[in-house]
Amino acid sequence: MKTAFISGITGQDGAYLAKLLCEKGYEVHGGVRRISHQENARLEALGIADEVTLHEFDLADSNNVFRVIREVAMDEFYNLAAQSFVGASWELPVYTSDVDAMGVLRVLDTLRTLRPDTRFYQASTSEMFGLVQEVPQRETTRLYPRSPYGVAKVFGHHMTMNYRESFGMHASSGILFNHESPLRGTEFVTRKITLALARIARGSDEILTLGNLDAQRDWGFAGDYVEGMWRMLQQPEADDYVLATGITTSIRDFVRFAAEALDMDPEFSGEGIGETAIDRKNGRRILQVSKKFFRPAEVDQLIGDASKAREKLGWQPRVTVRELAEMMARADYDALA
Ligand code: NDP
Ligand code: GDP
Repeated sequence: MKTAFISGITGQDGAYLAKLLCEKGYEVHGGVRRISHQENARLEALGIADEVTLHEFDLADSNNVFRVIREVAMDEFYNLAAQSFVGASWELPVYTSDVDAMGVLRVLDTLRTLRPDTRFYQASTSEMFGLVQEVPQRETTRLYPRSPYGVAKVFGHHMTMNYRESFGMHASSGILFNHESPLRGTEFVTRKITLALARIARGSDEILTLGNLDAQRDWGFAGDYVEGMWRMLQQPEADDYVLATGITTSIRDFVRFAAEALDMDPEFSGEGIGETAIDRKNGRRILQVSKKFFRPAEVDQLIGDASKAREKLGWQPRVTVRELAEMMARADYDALA
C-alpha cells in the first residue's frame, strides 16, 4: 500500500484527488491549515472525511513543513495548496508569493533533505502563459504571467524543474488549464454563475453581476484532471505536462450553457459594461456587467494542447464544457431544494 500526502486537501482538487487515491488503496494524508472554524465540507461531500488522516500544515511556515514531512512516511507528495484565486492576488501579492512561490521551495528543499525518493507533484497553471505567446499553449510555450499569482506559480514551476535537474528528484509539474466542478470555490466565475442562476431559477430576484464576458477559458472537469496528476507520478521519469481540453469558451457562452441547463432561454444585448441578458421565457433580467469584476490585467485567450499527456500518460478529458456547466448548474439547483 502506498502512502500519499496532499497539501491543500480541503480544496476542490485535494478532495477529488483524495477520493481517487483512497479508491486506489492508498493511505492518504492531507494538510489543513489552522482556521477559526472546521471546514471539511468537500471531503464530507465525497464521503471520505473519515478515510484520510489530517495534519496541521501551512506552506508559509518552514518549520511546520519540515515536521510534517518528517512525520509522514510518504511515497508521493501532491502540492495542491495555494492562494489559488487570481483576483485576490493583486490585493495579496506578498502573501500569494510567500505561499505559492516560497511554499513550493520549502517543500522541495525539505523533501531533498529528508525524503529525496518521494515523488513530487507541483500544481502549475495555465495562468503562467498569461499574455499568450503561442496558440494553443503547450509545455514549451514561453511563459508571460499577468498576475502576482501567475508570477509566483512560475517560480514554483521552475524550482520544481530545477530540483529535478539538480538533485535527480522525481518532481513533476502539471500545467493545468482551468478545471471546475460542483465543489469549485464560489469566487471563481463558473461557480459564481451556476450558483446565481440556480438561485434565480428557484425564484430569487437577484441579478448575476460579472466582469469581462469576452474572456475565454479552456475549462475541464476537476475529476478528470486529478487522474492526470496521479498518472504523472506513476511514470518512470518525472516531467512536465499540460492538461487541457483544447477547447476555449467565453464567459458569455458558459452563462448560456448554465442558463439553458436550468431551462432558461438567455438573450444578450448591449456592449461592454452596458451588456445585459434577459430570460426570453419571462422577460426577466438575469445578468449585468460591472467594472468591479474587471481585472487590472487580463489573460484573454487560454487554450491548451494536451497532446503530450495524451501520448505519454494516456490521459484525456471526458467531460465537455457544456456537460460541465450542466453538472454544476444542476448540482447547485438541487442543493437549494
Ligand atoms: P482551492 O482554492 O480549492 O484549494 C486550495 C487549497 O490550498 C485549500 O485546501 C486551501 O486551504 C489550501 N491553502 C491555501 N493557503 C494555504 C497555506 N498557506 N498553507 C497550506 N494550505 C493552504 O484550489 P483548487 O483545488 O482549485 O486548486 C488546487 C491547486 O491547483 C492550487 O495550487 C491552484 O493554484 C492550482 N490550479 C488550479 C486550477 C483550477 O482551475 N482549479 C488550474 C491550475 C492550477 P483552505 O481550505 O483552508 O482554504
Ligand atoms: P482564473 O482563470 O483562475 O482567473 O479563474 P476565474 O474563474 O476567477 O476567472 C476566469 C475569467 O473570468 C477571468 O478572465 C475573469 O476576468 C473572468 N470573469 C468575468 N467576470 C468575473 C467574475 O465576476 N468573477 C470572476 N472570478 N471572474 C470573472
